[in-house]
Amino acid sequence: MGDEVLAINDTPTTSLLATASDPALFADDLDRKLLSLPISRPISVQVRRAGTERTLTLVPEPVCATRYVLKTSEGITAYSDGFDIAVSSGLIAYTRNDDELAYVIAHETGHVINRNFETSQTERRDEDRADTLSVRLSHCAGYDPQIGIAYLLHRESDDMLRWFRSRSHRSRKGRVERMRAEAANVTCPAQPTYPAQTNGQETPSKRDPSLARRPAAQ
Ligand SMILES: [Zn+2]
Repeated sequence: MGDEVLAINDTPTTSLLATASDPALFADDLDRKLLSLPISRPISVQVRRAGTERTLTLVPEPVCATRYVLKTSEGITAYSDGFDIAVSSGLIAYTRNDDELAYVIAHETGHVINRNFETSQTERRDEDRADTLSVRLSHCAGYDPQIGIAYLLHRESDDMLRWFRSRSHRSRKGRVERMRAEAANVTCPAQPTYPAQTNGQETPSKRDPSLARRPAAQ
């Protein structure tokens, strides 16, 4: 509490600040730098505490580093930049129960775990993997995926533009059928649908500080 961070792994914070892409978002830069460090090696943090300089040794633990951001908007949308997840207040109001909201959040979390971020070009394979993982994650978190995935059918019936959606994407009904089959045999703990890169060095997509990436269809 009240520590002033002077250096991380012998790199002074003043030089980190000097190379920050946006000094106003330095805390995010620092987050990213810490996340990129290997989890197998302790981190040395030099701080000034009550006027005295001290060196702390922190042992990293793998955790879910995703931030969940509430966007105040009437639009019904949820999206991810591969790191963080935004959910609109409109979507929360639209979902009919916690299981549906859990499905949507678990789907986006599936994209983060599988290290892909969703755009209009997202491949069907990535969508299928996020769907598969969404069933496992929501189930293991104590929600009912069979109830949750009904969200997609609800959306389908309200989606006036559904005929104009990309044909490269599976229909929502097709996705629900796949997930119903998955939900019938789901077990915990949830496993990624293919091995995530866990060496701590991969930054496959650039974190979007405002999460302003164009929303994609859920
Ligand atoms: Zn998706």
